[in-house]
Amino acid sequence: MDRRPILVLAGIFAVLLALAWGALLVGLRPWGPDSEMVRSGEPPVVFLLFLALFAIGMLFLVFLIAVYVYQDAKRRGMPPLLWSLVAALVPYFIGLIVYLVVRQPRLLGCPHCGQVAGEKAVYCPTCGRPVRPLCPGCREPMPDGARFCPSCGKELRSPA
Ligand SMILES: [Zn+2]
Ligand SMILES: [Zn+2]
Repeated sequence: MDRRPILVLAGIFAVLLALAWGALLVGLRPWGPDSEMVRSGEPPVVFLLFLALFAIGMLFLVFLIAVYVYQDAKRRGMPPLLWSLVAALVPYFIGLIVYLVVRQPRLLGCPHCGQVAGEKAVYCPTCGRPVRPLCPGCREPMPDGARFCPSCGKELRSPA
C-alpha cells in the first residue's frame, strides 16, 4: 500500500500549522509588554485554541510518522517497533531523519501471498511459490528484464 499521499498531506498540514502558529505569535505577541495576555493577566481564548490545535496537529503528525515508519521498516527487514518509536519520539524529527538515512533497501514481497521474501529469495518462505519469474525451460530464476535465459538460452515469452 502506497502511503506517500498521506505523508504529503501530513507535510502540508504541518506547514499550515506552523504558518498559523507564526502568524498568531506575531499578531498577538502573547509575551510582549503590551500584549493582551500580560494586560489582562490571562491568555486570550484564541491563543489557547491555537495551542490546542497545534498540540493535536503535532500528535497527529507523530502518529502518522510512527505508522509510516512501522510499515516501512517491516518491508525492509528492520525492527519495526524500535524504529517507529525512535522516529516518533526523538525530538525535532531527528529520529525520522536518521531512519530515512540508515534504512535498508526494500525486501521483495511475494506476489502470491504478500508476505516478505528475502532480498535474493527465489521462492517465498511463507507459501513456497516463486517470487520472481522462472525460466520455462530450466526453471532458473530470471533477472529483471531478461529476454533470453542466461542459463539455457531459451527465449522467454514477454509477460502477458
Ligand atoms: Zn508467498
Ligand atoms: Zn533456462
